[in-house]
Parts: sequence; structure tokens; C-alpha cells
Amino acid sequence: MSSGSDLENRYCAQNYHPLPVVLSRGEGVYVWDEEGNKYLDMMSAYSAVSHGHANPRLVAALKAQAEKLCIVSRAFYTDKLGPFLERACELTGQDAALPMNTGAEAVETAVKAARRWGYEVKGITENQAEIIVCSGNFHGRTTTIISFSDEAEYQKNFGPLTPGFKIAQYGDIDSLKALITPNTAAFLIEPIQGEGGIVIPPAGYLKACETLCREHNVLLIADEIQCGLGRTGKMLACNHEDVVPDGLILGKALGGGIMPVSMFLAKKEVMDVFVPGTHGSTFGGNPLAAAIGLEALNILVDENLAERSMEMGNYMMGELNKLDSAMISTIRGSGLFIGIEIDPALGSAREICERLMTRGLLSKETHETVVRLAPPLVITKEQIDWAVDQIGQVLQELDSIRLAS
Ligand SMILES: *Cc1c(COP(=O)(O)O)cnc(C)c1O
Repeated sequence: MSSGSDLENRYCAQNYHPLPVVLSRGEGVYVWDEEGNKYLDMMSAYSAVSHGHANPRLVAALKAQAEKLCIVSRAFYTDKLGPFLERACELTGQDAALPMNTGAEAVETAVKAARRWGYEVKGITENQAEIIVCSGNFHGRTTTIISFSDEAEYQKNFGPLTPGFKIAQYGDIDSLKALITPNTAAFLIEPIQGEGGIVIPPAGYLKACETLCREHNVLLIADEIQCGLGRTGKMLACNHEDVVPDGLILGKALGGGIMPVSMFLAKKEVMDVFVPGTHGSTFGGNPLAAAIGLEALNILVDENLAERSMEMGNYMMGELNKLDSAMISTIRGSGLFIGIEIDPALGSAREICERLMTRGLLSKETHETVVRLAPPLVITKEQIDWAVDQIGQVLQELDSIRLAS
């Protein structure tokens, strides 16, 4: 391969296992490698590129704001932050927002808010607050966040870990109920688990979590960094069950595929625990990020991207379900957030992704057994037809190789 990957392999920490392709350009649902080969991007940077690569409205917003004002820190007000946060609150039913940059920072913000709310509002004894999370969760990679992962690989030799977390069985309301104590400040959940393998809990589960949390004065905090902002066919995955969480975390697509933009949103009673000096970020809420974030939200609404995700997702699911391969154990999804679970005895998701890559379709396996399909929400039916055709052919190839041996 070209020097691009050689240099990256030589100088970059080896904390990822990229597919062997060196990308240099993107437009809409497509990206191109150094040699000019074109690929349909069904990864969209883990859903950060829902608006498509180099979305013209977002590039225009970036250019216009870059020429005016980019970074001043929150030591001053700017003309861009207020309108951005107002729009985010309007669209999500929350009262206030705290802007950050990456997803993990917004999750950290949620954890801090929940603990402080636990002490100052709920009246939990100092340093006793507990936060309940879910099995199979993914909330980022900071030291505290990996402390409440149940993935051994994420934790090994990064200890000592942060205490104060308990893990409930994802999708099992009784498991959550059994863990709630008077010291429980919050329940943190991904309404649909992304990194966990596009895992959708049973219908009614999220609503039951909301009811249970309200009964026990426990904050329900939804991490919608990956599943939010139209990805699952609604503006928020919580909207599928008319759940309004007490705290909400957004990231990824909030930056329009252009830059990292994240935020923690909450009810007033929760957000009010932050007073000057208690939390901050040099770059969080900078005017460049705010201009891009506002445009990203406006595009979602103007172009009906959530409805489109629902329609195209249903279409793609229907087409995928017509595929006939012993390797597929299940196909699950919501909107354009789809996972094909591969029977590990018969095939590997990584090998399928590698073969799709040589055919011009980029995807990435998650948890070894799931092929993730999460294209930009602007994808068309024709592009989906082409992709499903490639997937069908790769499965057929692998089925015949296996049957021949
Ligand atoms: C990606 C992700 C995060 C972490 O976001 P970063 O920007 O990588 O820090 C947190 N929660 C969920 C659900 C995610 O998918």
C-alpha cells in the first residue's frame, strides 16, 4: 500500500485496526482513496457523517464562520453559542445545554452532573452516589468511562478504576430495579447500543426505565451520541417510545461530519448544579463549532433526515432480509442503523468487511460478529440497492468457499 498507511503505521499509536485503504477525499455518501478508487461509505465515521461528506451547507457555514471568529473561549459571550443551544434544546425537549467537543467529554459532563445533582438535590450522602449503567455499554474511553465498561479489553492495565458504578443487564427492567438504592443518582443508557453491536432492547423497555427512574427519583440519562439525531429514524431514539430523559448526551453527527461537537443537555434542575468554576472546556461551545452545530441541526430538520432514515432504513432492511446465506444469524436495526450478525462458526465479520472494501463498499465490524451498516442519511435507494447487491455477492462467495472446503 501507499506511504500514507506506512507513515501512519510507523508514527501513529496502534490503537486501531484500520481496513487497508488510504482515504483522501469525500463527497456525499462516497469517499475516494489515494489512487482515485471510489467507495460507498457505510460507516460514516461511526455515525458522525450523517449529513454526508463535505455537505455543501456545512462547508459554507464552516467557511463563513472561519473567516469571522473561531475561538475565544467561554470567558466571553459570543453571538453564535446561544442560538445553537436554543435550537438543540427546542429539538430535544431539554431546558439547557453544556457544550463540549468529543462524546467522551459530554459523557463525563453527564456523570459529574448526575453526581452533583445526587448530593445537592436528591440529598445523597457525600461520595456515596451510584450511577447504574448497562451491560455491553459503550460511552467512550476516558479513565472514568472505561471504569464502568464490562469489556475487559477496554480496562486491562488502565486501573485503578473509578468507583461508583453498577452494571444492569441491558434490556432487563428487573435487573435495573434490583440495583436501585437510595444512593442511586442516575441510570445511564444508550437507547440502542451502537458499539455493542446495534443492540435494540425489547419494545417498552425504555419507557419502563423512565417510569422506574421517576418512581425512585433517579435521573434517566440517555447517551444518544451515536443513535441520536435521526440515525434510527426519529430525531432521538428516545422518541420511539415518547421518553424524555432527564439528561441527554449528543455528539458525533452534531458536528456535521466536519468537527467534533458534543453537548450534555438536561432539565433545569439538573443543569443548575453547574455554577462558575465547577466545569469547563477551552474549546467547548466555540463559535466555529456552534455555527456548524446549528447548521447541522437545521439541515436535519429542513431535509427531513430522520424521516428519510426511517424510510431508507426500512427499505434496506427489507432488501437485506431477502439475502439467503447461512452466515447471517440475524439482521437488526432501526432506521439506517443496521447490524448483520454473522454466525462466528461460519464466517467472520472482518473478512466480510475486507471483501466489501475491495468491491467499493466501506463498513466495519463491531464486536467481531456484527457487520455495521450506517451510511450517511442522505443515501438513495439506488445506492442501497447497489450496496445490498455487493453484500449478497460477498456472502455467496464466502458460502461457496466454505462449502467447497
Ligand atoms: C462514540 C460514542 C461515544 C464517545 O464519543 P467520542 O467522540 O469518541 O469520545 C460515547 N457514547 C456513544 C454511545 C458512542 O457511540
